Amino acid sequence: MKIHEYQAKHILAKYGASVPRGDVADNPAQAVEIAKSLGGEVCVVKAQIHAGGRGKGGGVKVSKGLDAVEENAKTIIGMQLVTHQTGPVGQKVKRVLVEEGMDIVKELYCSLLVDRGSQTIVFLASTEGGMDIEEVAAKTPEKIIKIFVDPTIGLRPYQAMQIAYGLKVDEVNPKLVRPTANLMTSLYNAFISEDCSLVEINPLVLTGDARVIALDAKMTFDDSALFRHNDVVELRDFDEEDATEVEASQADLSYIKLDGSIGCMVNGAGLAMGTMDIIKEFGGEPANFLDVGGTATQERVATAFRIITSDPNVKCILVNIFGGIVRCDVVAEGIVAAFKQINLQVPVVVRLAGTNAEKAHEVIAGAGMGDKLQMAEGLRNAAEAAVAAIKN
Ligand code: GDP
Ligand code: MN
Repeated sequence: MKIHEYQAKHILAKYGASVPRGDVADNPAQAVEIAKSLGGEVCVVKAQIHAGGRGKGGGVKVSKGLDAVEENAKTIIGMQLVTHQTGPVGQKVKRVLVEEGMDIVKELYCSLLVDRGSQTIVFLASTEGGMDIEEVAAKTPEKIIKIFVDPTIGLRPYQAMQIAYGLKVDEVNPKLVRPTANLMTSLYNAFISEDCSLVEINPLVLTGDARVIALDAKMTFDDSALFRHNDVVELRDFDEEDATEVEASQADLSYIKLDGSIGCMVNGAGLAMGTMDIIKEFGGEPANFLDVGGTATQERVATAFRIITSDPNVKCILVNIFGGIVRCDVVAEGIVAAFKQINLQVPVVVRLAGTNAEKAHEVIAGAGMGDKLQMAEGLRNAAEAAVAAIKN
């Protein structure tokens, strides 16, 4: 789950990270009030959408004086902001963050993420902040330093210092080393306590008055840990998320939309991956990843069918369920009932293996839906039948 910059900064500040003073506004008059309360001559008006690259897209405006704040807030609120992360349609801006302007001496980069390979939390840090870090990684990977933190030990003070020196803040001002190290500790504590999968500060800035400040903040949370962070769940902005993925998550289904034409309904993430691979092997393209989990009841199957077919690209659905704990005949009954209940318009190919698979065959055949709802023997045959169905 993602949140907005202003929300991320609010959380990071609770952990002691320095962020610019500011507040969020949903109209220009409110933006002006915030600018007034900040007192300074220069403010920055920043579009709040989940995607990055707002600066280049015209969503971040340094504003001198209250008139400029009002003008820029007017332009940005309500605009359809297009960045390299939003896709060509862009994202509508509902709010702006109004912050005190910073006297920036240097823009740096730092982020924290889970590194599965080393089973650690890794800090990425670079002196090349502000611009696209992907470009830095591709062209000058030596400019990104990595510090691996064993989560069972935690971030040790010398590692925080390593990052500060790696960012060469001492070359700007030796007094900045300790506050930078402290900021890294704050970021690490927030990352662990809030169960994040990513914390990214780009840019992290050094200012003319010798401060180190998180000028931008991106925070992503591990969905599997959200159950213990009710306060984080409340920050969810459904307007920023794919509507179908939201419906799926509310129904407790793991759904990810893809670009192909064969919808997949599978139990188990590994089996779902295998199913997608086999569809590709037969020359098809999966339209989605969908894991119905261990309980393939009629209700869940119906919801899954509805979600899959809300994608207009879907021309056929492949159901691949292994009956380990669930009985295949019960699943088959659920599929037939759901198929009729929502009056499916696309053909469905079913492969059921495991407990009571033979009975399941009888249930599907007994439904008498012909080619619209057919049972296949084995996953390869099922994938072949699904690919053949979209060619008809
Ligand atoms: P992003 O483009 O979505 O990543 O948005 P950022 O928050 O990173 O802002 C983009 C750029 O705007 C930064 O890299 C800075 O160069 C600039 N910027 C943001 N806030 C300030 C500020 O307070 N003062 C100045 N001078 N520039 C700022
Ligand atoms: Mn940024």
